[in-house]
Amino acid sequence: MSAEIISGTQMRQEILAELEHEVKAMQEQHGTVPGLVTILVGENPASVSYVTLKVKTALSLGFHEVQDNQPEDISEQDLLALIEKYNNDPAIHGILVQLPLPKHINEDAVINAISPDKDVDGFHPVNLGKMVIGGDQVRYLPCTPAGIQEMIVRSGTETEGAEVVVVGRSNIVGKPISVMMGQKGPGANSTVTMVHTRTKDLAAHCQRADILIVAAGVPGLVKPEWIKPGATVIDVGVNRIGVSEETGKAILSGDVDFEAAKEIAGKITPVPGGVGPMTITMLMKNTVKSAWWHLQEKV
Ligand code: NAP
Repeated sequence: MSAEIISGTQMRQEILAELEHEVKAMQEQHGTVPGLVTILVGENPASVSYVTLKVKTALSLGFHEVQDNQPEDISEQDLLALIEKYNNDPAIHGILVQLPLPKHINEDAVINAISPDKDVDGFHPVNLGKMVIGGDQVRYLPCTPAGIQEMIVRSGTETEGAEVVVVGRSNIVGKPISVMMGQKGPGANSTVTMVHTRTKDLAAHCQRADILIVAAGVPGLVKPEWIKPGATVIDVGVNRIGVSEETGKAILSGDVDFEAAKEIAGKITPVPGGVGPMTITMLMKNTVKSAWWHLQEKV
């Protein structure tokens, strides 16, 4: 039997509708809306397209959106000063600096300069530390792992006591989602194994997984015979495997052999249209959260 497809495109619509409702309520109750600044340095085409999408989504939700484009040769000092300006701007609740940055700028210094209170990407060490501590301490979860967890929960997958195997240990996906799924609490309480290039017998680990999360960046890495029948498979990989002759656009593939895997898995995310649309959605959710927190602090 073919697996149920977990559509990120559809879930995004549901979540954005919920957020739009919240923004309206905030406007009515407090006369304010969430404010997001997107800082883009240079004109890297992939970054331009990500920022354009973020801006469009923020505007569609009724946010106060500031798109701050800076030249490729902006100095690190000037960029840090710009961030400080937005740290102190009460109309801004979320600061997003599009990565990667030009080589002459130290990315860590930039991430560390963003106020943890406005770090809606969830990359600041303070927020990563709070994410590890868990419980009430958690403020902003990093967007891609937050999107993955949301998909698992909204698809009705049982996480309590589930064997979760995460392929990949990057700071933006593998490590945080491993921690999050192992936390005490709803949507988690799983038994987590994180695997990587030095893991012995990757296949054997994957075959145990009730929930298999793959974030390696290797097209077709996960073979259908590695999947436990009925498992939930979340494919985070986004790989450009060619260019369409018809549209001239990149052909994308995940890290899982989707066509074969969907005949074995119980639930599976497609690429594109799976985790991808959830990442920006979670950025919007974090910004709405931030706006509420800032309002509560003022009360
Ligand atoms: P990354 O920093 O390159 O990390 C990849 C991880 O996968 C590393 O830990 C690596 O192990 C592991 N790995 C690579 N090849 C492997 C193999 N053959 N066997 C076992 N483990 C292997 O990548 P990332 O930033 O986490 O991104 C992963 C993928 O997700 C990429 O395709 C990226 O485009 C995609 N992504 C998608 C979204 C989204 O919104 N949909 C967001 C972020 C990333 P080692 O540590 O041992 O090298």
